[in-house]
Amino acid sequence: MGRLLVVGSSNTDMILQVQNLPRPGETVLGGQFSTAPGGKGANQAVAAARAGADVSLVARVGRDSFGEQALAGFAGDGIDTRHCSVDDSAPSGVAQILVSAAGENCIGVAPGANATLAPRHLDSASEAFRKCAVVLLQLETPLATVERAAALGRDADAVVILNPAPACELPDSLYPLLDMITPNETEAEHLTGIRVTDESSAAAAARVLHKRGVTTVLITRGASGVYLSREAGQNAVTGESFPAFEVDAVDTTAAGDVFNGCLAAALTRGETLERCVRFAQAAAALSVQVLGAQTSAPDIAAIDAFFQ
Ligand code: ADP
Repeated sequence: MGRLLVVGSSNTDMILQVQNLPRPGETVLGGQFSTAPGGKGANQAVAAARAGADVSLVARVGRDSFGEQALAGFAGDGIDTRHCSVDDSAPSGVAQILVSAAGENCIGVAPGANATLAPRHLDSASEAFRKCAVVLLQLETPLATVERAAALGRDADAVVILNPAPACELPDSLYPLLDMITPNETEAEHLTGIRVTDESSAAAAARVLHKRGVTTVLITRGASGVYLSREAGQNAVTGESFPAFEVDAVDTTAAGDVFNGCLAAALTRGETLERCVRFAQAAAALSVQVLGAQTSAPDIAAIDAFFQ
C-alpha cells in the first residue's frame, strides 16, 4: 500500500446555532456554541486516515491552543504530522459559522496560518513527496503552494489530485500537473463557465478541463452522484455516471471532503478507479447521515460494512 500526502488547510470551526441568522447590525441571543476541527485539508486527511490510508499532512497552524488541538487531533487519527509547521506570528485558521434553525448558514473564514503555508515549507517534506503514491490538494492555501506541491507530486510519479474548492481562477500552468480534478457542480461551472445540471453538461465541462491538460475529471453532483470522464487517447474521452447511494441525509457538510479523502485512500491501495469512486461514495453517503465535518468521517469498519 502506498502513502497519501495531503497538503492543505486546517481550521477550527466555531459554530453558533441561532434561531434566525442576524441581519447586518443585529444581535441575536440564545444560541448554542460549539467548536470542531475543520479546514478542507485537515478534513480530507482525517477522512483518508479513518478509511485506512497511511497519511502525511503538510499544514500550518498558529502557536495557540487551536493549533495545538488540531495537531493533537491529527496524531489521534494516526496522521504523520512531521511536516505540519507552526507560525509564530499568525494565528490558527478559524471559520466562524452561524447556523439557523432552518439549516441556512453564514460563514466567515480567517485563514491565519493557512495563508502563510508557502512553497518553501514543502522543501522540508521532500522525502514525504518521494515516498507517496498519491498527493491530494485543495484551494484553501496559497495557489503558489498548491502549484509547487503538484509539481513535486508529478516529479515523484505520484497520482496528483486537486479538489478545486473553494472555487477560484486557476493558472493554465497548474492543469497539466494534475492527474485528476474533482470539482462539485458549482466549482465545475466556475472553472469552465458551463452550468452543470445533468450528465451531458457534466461531460461538456469535463471536456474543457481535459483540453486544459487533466486526464481524469470527476464531477461530484451531491445526491445525483459522480460523473467520471477519462481521456482515452487520440482525443477520445469516455464518460460514466455513478449514482449516489440512497440514504437519508441529515447534514451534507464536508461530503466532498470525505469523498476526496476516501477516493485518495482507495487509490493508495491500487484499486481500479471505478472501485475507488464507489468506495468514496459509500464513505460520503455514511458521512451525510451524521452531523458535522470531521466528526462525520466514517472509519474503515463502517465503510466496509456498508460497501462490500
Ligand atoms: P461537496 O460537498 O464538495 O459540494 P458533493 O455535494 O458533490 O460535494 O458530494 C460529494 C459526494 O458525496 C457525492 O458525489 C455523493 O457521492 C456523496 N453525497 C453527497 N450528498 C449526498 C446525499 N444526499 N446522499 C448520498 N450521497 C451523497
